[in-house]
Amino acid sequence: MTKLEVLKKYFGYDSFREGQEELIDAILSGRDALGIMPTGAGKSICYQVPAMMLDGVAVVISPLISLMKDQVGALNQAGIPACYFNSSLSQHEYFEALELAKAGQYKIIYVAPERLEIDSFSRIAEECEISFVAVDEAHCVSQWGQDFRPSYLKIHRFIGGLPKRPVVGAFTATATKRVRDDIITDLKLTNPKTLVTGFDRPNLYFETRQSLPSRAGFILDYVKAHPNSSGIIYCISRSKVEKLCSTLCDNGISATRYHAGLSQEERRHNQDAFIYGDKLVMVATNAFGMGIDKSDVRFVIHNGMPKSLEAYYQEVGRAGRDGLKSDCILLYAASDVRTNRFLINQNDNPELSQSEKDKIKDKELERLKLMTFYATTTDCLRDYILKYFGEPGCGRCSNCSNCLSEYEEIDVTAVARKLVACVAVTGQKCGQMILLDFVRGVPGEKLKMLHLNDKKGFGCLKDVKPEKLREILDHLLRTGYLKTGEFYKLELTERSHDILSETVILKVTKEQEKRKERTRRRDRKAASVTATENPDLFELLRQKRSELARAEKMPPYIIFSDKTLHDMATEQPLNENEFMRLSGVGSRKCEKYSSEFLAVIRKFVLSK
Ligand code: ADP
Repeated sequence: MTKLEVLKKYFGYDSFREGQEELIDAILSGRDALGIMPTGAGKSICYQVPAMMLDGVAVVISPLISLMKDQVGALNQAGIPACYFNSSLSQHEYFEALELAKAGQYKIIYVAPERLEIDSFSRIAEECEISFVAVDEAHCVSQWGQDFRPSYLKIHRFIGGLPKRPVVGAFTATATKRVRDDIITDLKLTNPKTLVTGFDRPNLYFETRQSLPSRAGFILDYVKAHPNSSGIIYCISRSKVEKLCSTLCDNGISATRYHAGLSQEERRHNQDAFIYGDKLVMVATNAFGMGIDKSDVRFVIHNGMPKSLEAYYQEVGRAGRDGLKSDCILLYAASDVRTNRFLINQNDNPELSQSEKDKIKDKELERLKLMTFYATTTDCLRDYILKYFGEPGCGRCSNCSNCLSEYEEIDVTAVARKLVACVAVTGQKCGQMILLDFVRGVPGEKLKMLHLNDKKGFGCLKDVKPEKLREILDHLLRTGYLKTGEFYKLELTERSHDILSETVILKVTKEQEKRKERTRRRDRKAASVTATENPDLFELLRQKRSELARAEKMPPYIIFSDKTLHDMATEQPLNENEFMRLSGVGSRKCEKYSSEFLAVIRKFVLSK
């Protein structure tokens, strides 16, 4: 079979997406490969297709236990023999899978990195013919990456210990050069074919909101306005998850929760409820989502800012994996910065030395600063993200809240100069909150302790609203008139002096724009509802899919994605040949499900 035949037969797709073919060709030709593609771009196909074409079994190393189960389930559905080895298996299951693996029953084996050095597993490696090794989430090998996992450093030892070195493919969504170099060095890739695809996800709409009077109120309105949509709401802390989830449930929303404080059993139960579609909204901390492959997540809302754009992009990457329009909304408040700083300072990973910890902390604080700039910028959000990940940027995307808002420019030079002057007057000893108290003339213990209550400038901006002062301060930090130093104190920069001869312009959303935006939101909602030509048929097909999913104890999207159902509702195939032409229908799934879905379509067509 050719690679295109494999793609259609097992996965139901007619063509490769950007980058997939090049990486597959490299692996098939015996060359190591490094694929850097954003979440949802289709990295799995890059190793699953060669696995079906090469002799022997492909070993996929992945840190994500929940992803393994999902992926193996989806592969088995597609007719590909696969299994996984991780700590979630009972001893009996583990040894049963080992025997089958040794007997050559599988084409793909998923394994957690910790298992590689366990004797029973390394014996399989000696007894089976390994076609190649794929390392998923390869950035975990880098100490500079945000998800460093020491067990990843064992991978090259495992590969080196094999009787014959197989081809190695590494895949990640983290693009920075430093991490990329670490992957090549630490996994000892040999002259890899390196491919970086565009980081843009055009179907994602980005929005940021600052200083909302009630974030919970905003979220409730949003969820109510999108009644049949599945979505994730990330909160910064467990207590915020609890509170928001109760508010949503009290208001009749089908929501569940996930955080590290819940028992393993409840986490599993709630995760399944979300994945299987029994609950529509998942309220969670960032403990949720690694390896969640649910393709129909229509929105990801961050009720608080995450600590880096890497984390943010990974989390919002869980929206719209099926390629349909989805919303990514960040609700930001200045207090998020303090919470994140606190969390960053908590790092006490015993596997790291003090100097490693310090270096990682500095990096994380730098990332936090750039994340804050994203949350507060008035420029195109997509452009900001793309440039952050080292891409050329897109200018204006017309699909983010900043591009869709009209701004007016206001001259804030006078206030900005006073703020910079007060940083100097107070001896660069104040963090943002204390400086704001100082310029607003709010007396407090801290100011008294620093002997700043009677300094010139105390109360000099008492007539300006605190939100406005914060916005201007953010702008001064973003544009380099000020910076944050040790203990987050505000400090002067080389540019600070220039403020005396320069004009400082702040872009703010026009008041009437805020009203227009609400209308636009309604229009966007209407557009997404009519994405299918036949919403009634789509709904019937969705019910059929849920029924089959329940009977098979499978998440519905593993049977067919929303995208395939949309195509079904639009194309209305009436026989197997036509059904087989739909994107996402491979021969195994056609055989298994076509009669059930065709019956629904035929009945619908006849009733018209
Ligand atoms: P990643 O691992 O890069 O986050 P996945 O491998 O999970 O992404 O793929 C995301 C989605 O894209 C999956 O639903 C997958 O089936 C789909 N997909 C992958 N390759 C193709 C393709 N060539 N054509 C259509 N859909 C694809």
